Amino acid sequence: MKGFNTRAVHEGERKIEDAVTMPIFQTSNFITDEFKSAQKNPENFYTRVGNPTIGALERKLASLCGGNGGVFFSSGMGAISTVLYSFLVAGDNIVVSNSIYGGTQSLLKEFPAAGIDVRRFDQSNSLSISGLIDERTSVVYVESMVNPNLILTDIPKVASVIASSGSKALLVVDNTFLSPYNFRPLEFGADIDIQSLTKYINGHSDVIAGFAAFRDQEKGNHVRSAMIRLGTNGAPFDAFLVNRGVKTLGPRMRLHNENALEIARYLLKQPAVKKVCYPGLFEEMADCYKDCPGFGGVVYFELSDYEKARSFVKKCKLFQEATSLAGVESLVTMPTLTSHSSLSDRELEEASISRGGIRLSVGIEDLEDLTEDLRAALEGC
Ligand code: PLP
Repeated sequence: MKGFNTRAVHEGERKIEDAVTMPIFQTSNFITDEFKSAQKNPENFYTRVGNPTIGALERKLASLCGGNGGVFFSSGMGAISTVLYSFLVAGDNIVVSNSIYGGTQSLLKEFPAAGIDVRRFDQSNSLSISGLIDERTSVVYVESMVNPNLILTDIPKVASVIASSGSKALLVVDNTFLSPYNFRPLEFGADIDIQSLTKYINGHSDVIAGFAAFRDQEKGNHVRSAMIRLGTNGAPFDAFLVNRGVKTLGPRMRLHNENALEIARYLLKQPAVKKVCYPGLFEEMADCYKDCPGFGGVVYFELSDYEKARSFVKKCKLFQEATSLAGVESLVTMPTLTSHSSLSDRELEEASISRGGIRLSVGIEDLEDLTEDLRAALEGC
C-alpha cells in the first residue's frame, strides 16, 4: 500500500507473512523437541529471539514504513550498528554522507580498525557518490533529512547512482527525522529504513528503542539473526510503550509539522537570526519530498556566535534544554555541545554546523506560547 497506512495504526496489524522467520532455527545443530516447537511459534519461546508484543509491533511498524518485515531493537544505535555489522566484513567499504548523526559518526570511526573503509561524500552533491562506489561497497548510508541542519537527501537519485554503478550495495536510510508519517524511503528505492523509535514514533520521550524496516524479507531475517547473536533486541515493555505511542503518530506529526513551519517563518524575520534551516520554508527540493505532508518538528537556526546562542538557550523557559528531540514537549539544544560534540572543528565545518547553531525540537504545545518563549529569549541577542 502506498502512502501512510493509517489502517495499520488504528485497526491492528496487517499480516506480513513470515516476518518473524528465524534463520537461527534453520541452521541450528542442536535442534531439540523444544526448539522444534519454538520454530512453529518463535514469538513464544525466548524473548531475545522473539516475543508476541514485539512481533505485533514489528508487523505494525513494517507496514507503516511500507516494508516487508522489520526488526525491533534496544535503541536507534542498536538498529544502526546491527544492520551495518550484518552487511559489512573486513575488506568491504561503506559510502556515507559527511553529514549524519554524531552517534553514527562515532560508530563509523571504529570501522577502519576492523578493516572496513569508510568513504565520505558531500551531502550537498549526491552524484559525488558515483566515484566512491566499487565492487567492495556493501552499504551506502544516508539520512533522509540530516541532523541538525535538515538537508534533504535525494533518495531516488542515490538509488539510481548505486544501480548504474552495477554495485550490489544496499541503500540504508536513517529516516528518524521525518518519520514514516512524512516520508517512506522504501517507496523511493531504499533497501532498509532505520528509525530511532526514541523519537517521533514513540513520541513521549520515555523510551529508547530502534527499528529497521526491510524491502526484502531475506535481508530482514539476516539482520534478525545478527540481532539475536549480538543481543541488541529491545524489551517487550518498551515495545508495549511504543505501540501506544504510535497510535497518535498521525495527529502528533500534523501538529509538529504545523508548529515548526510557523516557528521557522517567525525566526526568519528576526534580525538576530543569521540563518534558518527548515525544508518547508523553501520550494526547491528533490521531487520525492514534494508530496510530504510536512517536515517534522526540528528547526535549526544560527545566532552570531557561541555566547549569544548559549545566552538564548538559558533564557528559554517553555523550550527546555535537553538532548533529545521529537517528543510532544518542545526542547532546545546546541548540537556542538550534544549530538555533534564528538566532531572536530574541521568535521563541523564540513557538516555546516556553526558554534552559534541552535536546534529546536518543536512540540505540540500552543503555537502562541512557543513563539512568545522564543521572542523573550531572543531579546538582547
Ligand atoms: N539517528 C538519528 C538521526 C538520531 O538523531 C539519533 C539520536 O538522536 C539516533 C539515530 C540514535 O537513536 P537512539 O538514541 O535511539 O539510539
